[in-house]
Amino acid sequence: MTEEALVSEDCSIDLQWSQICSQLKMEFGETAFDSWLKPLTVGELSNGVMNICAPTAFMKNWVITHYSERINKIWEQKNQEVKKVNFIVQTGFANRRSTDSSLLKRISTTPTPQNIYGGNINSSSFGLVSGSTVTSEPVKSVANTQSTTIPNPNYTFDNFVVGKTNEFAYAAAKKVAESKNVSFNPLFLYSSVGLGKTHLMHSIIAHIKENTPNRNVIYLTAEQFVYKFVKALRYKDTTAFKEQFRSVDVLMVDDFQFMGNKGTTQDEFFHTFSSLVEEGKQVIIAADKSPTDLEGIESRLKSRLVGGLVVDIMPTDFDLRMGILKKKAELLNIDLPTKVAEFLAQKITSNVRELEGSLKRVAAHSQLLSGKEITLDMTQDVLKDMLRSIDRKTTIDEIQKKVAEHFNISVKELQSSRRARTVARPRQVAMYLAKQLTSRSLPEIGRKFDRDHTTVMHAVRKVEELIVEDTSLAENIEILRRTLEN
Ligand code: ADP
Ligand code: MG
Repeated sequence: MTEEALVSEDCSIDLQWSQICSQLKMEFGETAFDSWLKPLTVGELSNGVMNICAPTAFMKNWVITHYSERINKIWEQKNQEVKKVNFIVQTGFANRRSTDSSLLKRISTTPTPQNIYGGNINSSSFGLVSGSTVTSEPVKSVANTQSTTIPNPNYTFDNFVVGKTNEFAYAAAKKVAESKNVSFNPLFLYSSVGLGKTHLMHSIIAHIKENTPNRNVIYLTAEQFVYKFVKALRYKDTTAFKEQFRSVDVLMVDDFQFMGNKGTTQDEFFHTFSSLVEEGKQVIIAADKSPTDLEGIESRLKSRLVGGLVVDIMPTDFDLRMGILKKKAELLNIDLPTKVAEFLAQKITSNVRELEGSLKRVAAHSQLLSGKEITLDMTQDVLKDMLRSIDRKTTIDEIQKKVAEHFNISVKELQSSRRARTVARPRQVAMYLAKQLTSRSLPEIGRKFDRDHTTVMHAVRKVEELIVEDTSLAENIEILRRTLEN
């Protein structure tokens, strides 16, 4: 192969990998992606085998068990030369052309699931992060630089816009951040996605860091907790793990719904939690459901979680969306005409992340055109894809309803655990359509069916296979798709 061919193949593999990553992020959700998939890097394609590098053996095994099938499939679809994906542990750059500076850059900036920090935001004070278990692994230095990247400097109390739907959550978060004495324990925040839970949690950290820097804070997601615990078990280093978590003043666990099913990890969390509460240390938890609605959580833990203050953030109203747009425009330093803000606040109602994303797109567009004024026309044009899908307004509820009607079963049956073919197949079709017609992630779709994301992934794949062989099913799906899209 010529040098030039090598370079161009290299570029296209990088590009394909970044596209695959976007897809994986969409399918598995941001949290799982950031924790497990983002740290992977792509290696050489040789004799049809694509090498994917993981920073540690543990991570490699985890990815193989949970994600390899899907990664394999997507690679095969993307690049016909790829016959098989092979996961390896990255030890230096031996598996890749050594001149590949983009890889060097990628590896040195790749986040690992070690976003954890103390009161002084110095990860070296954490036994597990800097302890012997990590020292033996190749990317230790990466792990140690990560903690400085968060909290997100934009996520402060000052930048949080308060309205009727979130004022209680805001007040509770502020109170926890300001007072050294624990008034409610834990503080449990919940809401659907994109409504400001993580923003409030980061605001608490920023406040503590500024006002009482000696308070030792750990913030991490439930998935990172699980990861760390499993790793500690594996390296027989649970003492350091326990000490690390039990010596904090404030423990914050985000995305608690990913704590995993009952078992050793939950036991460990339960004991950590109980000992912190007994010692009067603050625990703050955020999740997408109330403690009582959380799935797979032991009842003794649930009852402890409701023992503090449980606060929900409701979906935004129009006024709050207007306030948020104004604030975000200020932060982005852009001139946002009221008409455009009203248009966005009317159209993009489901979550603040999307609202902010649309504003950023419009702002970027205007900047690309050398600061061209933002107008309603421009906004509609830049956001046309997004607006079209919003106008279509296909929701998972609607899909479930239409699919159930079509196959003559009830929505309850569709959501039930019944496995009879007459129910199971329509359920798979509904999951498939939900993936195709909405922008919901696999875990989000799963929740609507009382299943986890792997079941949805399996259903999507199954239907993709069936469509090829079973023309009658393919026709049924086509009819459903058309009804739903109209
Ligand atoms: P969640 O953790 O509930 O999924 P996030 O905290 O990540 O949501 O919020 C998503 C985005 O929306 C963030 O960029 C956050 O700054 C923004 N956001 C949400 N609510 C507000 C609010 N009330 N004021 C300002 N920004 C907000
Ligand atoms: Mg969040």
